[in-house]
Amino acid sequence: MPWETPRKTYSVDLGTYNTLLVCAKTGDVLLNEPSVVAVKSTAYTGEKKVCAVGTAAKRMVGRTPVGMDVKRPLQHGVIADFQVTEEMLKYFLQQVMPTQFPARWFRPEVVICVPYGATQVERRAIKESAIGAGAGNVYLVDEPMAAAIGANLPVESASGSMVVDIGGGTSEIAIISLNGIVYAQSVRIGGDKFDEMIISYVRKKFACLIGEITAEKIKRTIGTAFPVDDIKELQVSGRSMTECVPCSFVINSTHVLEALQEPLAGIIDAIRAALEQAPPELSADIEERGLMLTGGGALLRDIDRLIAEETGLPVMLADDPLTCVARGGAKIIDMLHEYGTDILTTE
Ligand code: ADP
Ligand code: MG
Repeated sequence: MPWETPRKTYSVDLGTYNTLLVCAKTGDVLLNEPSVVAVKSTAYTGEKKVCAVGTAAKRMVGRTPVGMDVKRPLQHGVIADFQVTEEMLKYFLQQVMPTQFPARWFRPEVVICVPYGATQVERRAIKESAIGAGAGNVYLVDEPMAAAIGANLPVESASGSMVVDIGGGTSEIAIISLNGIVYAQSVRIGGDKFDEMIISYVRKKFACLIGEITAEKIKRTIGTAFPVDDIKELQVSGRSMTECVPCSFVINSTHVLEALQEPLAGIIDAIRAALEQAPPELSADIEERGLMLTGGGALLRDIDRLIAEETGLPVMLADDPLTCVARGGAKIIDMLHEYGTDILTTE
């Protein structure tokens, strides 16, 4: 009997901010690392070499010497740098693959969650990157569908479900019914935009320059999307704009709320546009059942409350919103193995 390697199937959420790998059979999150790569270019030849990936590379953001660059190969949900993406994916796959098999014998099956708006060319490129990174069979699934399934929405039923995935680079809004996407829209507003707005707010209000890591820390610790009673404060250090020396200031939740007004309004507008575009029957379903929030941006304090107030709909926050897409992808490939499903595309 020929010796066979066991089939391994992974679901990959190749996010702008984070990459997650989930084992399809068990649903366990095997890897969750920032989608960040540190690239060094040699002074003489200009040749580029990847020197750190994921968490190790993220630690270098804003602290790199000349000749080294920390890149996020995915921007706004699409691959901005294919070569670096492939290297990153290769590194991540190697982290989870069983070590006893040489990579050339062992090509895992991979399902990759791609943004709904990705073009055919981009989809093919993502697939090629995965194959280049060591994958065997590659399937693609639309991210909003994976998010909805990861959040346990009844996508197969004839009533409409609405999912809003707020990621790093984009927010994707989708209405799903009968295992298909009825409406989907992606806006280039997400957690990164929130961080950017905090940076520019701090520059104007406190005449101080802060980096993106600090801005994100402010957002996570004291940020809010809705006026709150218990206002939190945080002492922050940066570089003074007037004197070019280090400076320090105290920022509070109300400041952050003010800074985030514009991107939050953008997300609300996109949700309203989706509701207007929905066929009337589905619109009635959504009015009754509400919408589901997924993605890391959904963790911004009270963003569910803001959306509920502004749209008048019931808003639910998915369990573990950061892993929803990857877990959904794993469930979809499982369905394919068990009884076949047409949710996956190979194109
Ligand atoms: P992507 O799919 O683009 O990789 P994710 O769904 O992983 O994005 O979400 C990443 C975004 O979520 C980042 O902008 C990050 O700052 C934000 N985020 C993560 N945790 C929190 C939190 N507790 N509060 C606010 N934002 C958060
Ligand atoms: Mg995502």
